[in-house]
Amino acid sequence: MKNKEVDYIVVGLGLAGLAFSRILEKHKKSFIIFEDNSQNASLVASGMYNPVVLKRFTPVWKANLQLKEAIPFYQELEQLLQNRYNHAVAIYKVFKSVEEQNNWTVACNKSSLSNYMIPQIINKKIAGILSNFGFGRLKNTGRILTKLLLDDYKFYLKECNLIKYERFNYHSLKINKNIVEYKNIIAKNIVFCEGFGLIKNPFFNYLPMQEAKGELLTIHAPELNIDFMIKSSVFVLPLGNHYYKVGATFNWKDKTLNATQEGKQELIDKLSKVITVHYKIVAQSAGIRPTVKDRRPLVGKHPIHKNMAILNGLGTRGVMIAPWAAKQLFHHLENDKELDKEVTINRYQKLFSN
Ligand SMILES: Cc1cc2nc3c(=O)[nH]c(=O)nc-3n(C[C@H](O)[C@H](O)[C@H](O)COP(=O)(O)OP(=O)(O)OC[C@H]3O[C@@H](n4cnc5c(N)ncnc54)[C@H](O)[C@@H]3O)c2cc1C
Repeated sequence: MKNKEVDYIVVGLGLAGLAFSRILEKHKKSFIIFEDNSQNASLVASGMYNPVVLKRFTPVWKANLQLKEAIPFYQELEQLLQNRYNHAVAIYKVFKSVEEQNNWTVACNKSSLSNYMIPQIINKKIAGILSNFGFGRLKNTGRILTKLLLDDYKFYLKECNLIKYERFNYHSLKINKNIVEYKNIIAKNIVFCEGFGLIKNPFFNYLPMQEAKGELLTIHAPELNIDFMIKSSVFVLPLGNHYYKVGATFNWKDKTLNATQEGKQELIDKLSKVITVHYKIVAQSAGIRPTVKDRRPLVGKHPIHKNMAILNGLGTRGVMIAPWAAKQLFHHLENDKELDKEVTINRYQKLFSN
């Protein structure tokens, strides 16, 4: 078989692999992607972007920086693939107490949050939604249709012959000083973007990834008529035609992608305290968020093999973080630019042993 030479091999096409391959395309670097459908966080994700932590009314870590990269990133993909992925969706936070209302009002005055939090407390009742203390409304928030985007991008890659649907076998990788070889492919660099699949990667599985499995329901509620997301102990996200996504659970033990009866029951119980209308469950889905001990992404070069790198640990906020973190990694690899101290995997150097 004839050898194929590329600048990069990319392993995994979730939001991390998508963001990295797009920056490669923009800089005219050649690449090939391997994808084996073993993980699906990016496919099941609700796709929300929201720069406010709704438990504490504080800014999400580096949210403004990330959104500055993310919004144009998705816009460019809309142009490239001729489809719409970014939809503005307001969020209504259900208050649990007067104290929470007061905390909201205080937080609205902070300059980092005032672009997103609306000070007026909404006291009017919303049909079908339970609330004793009203709502706080967030603006400039939205949703990326991640599955549609990835499906369209995969089709585009397939047409360009840039994706192989097969499991990347780590043991077949040969590492030389300036290149890596995998089967008949010779590449200058390899970047791993496997999400929770990282735990099977012998080069990087020393990094402290924790499984944060999440389950979601899709319901049909004909009497519920909202075009914004409700955030309470669960969220209720409108999909159109009275369909809603309800989620999500957090399970720190289960490493499987199966939808479970426990997950379903937890969501049903919580939902009964949020909405009053009848509904029918039409689907259930599950995925594993690639979460890191310190809740920061995993970005950087392997401690020994400098032509091998990782882009992972996007946790619960892959939509906002991926484009920003991919840019960090690209300029680190190509231009020797220093990585943000909080994302570099050097912070876990002590865990690495030969
Ligand atoms: C229920 C749920 C709801 C969520 N909601 C949101 C949300 O509203 N907003 C938000 O920003 N984030 C959300 N997230 C988090 C978000 O999904 C993740 O941060 C993000 O998808 C992680 O992307 P990734 O590319 O790192 O991982 P993944 O999406 O897991 O992608 C990794 C890819 O690598 C492939 N792969 C792995 N190993 C191999 C191998 N050896 N060979 C070939 N391919 C391989 C996998 O098949 C997979 O396609 C949610 C997650 C879940 C589970």
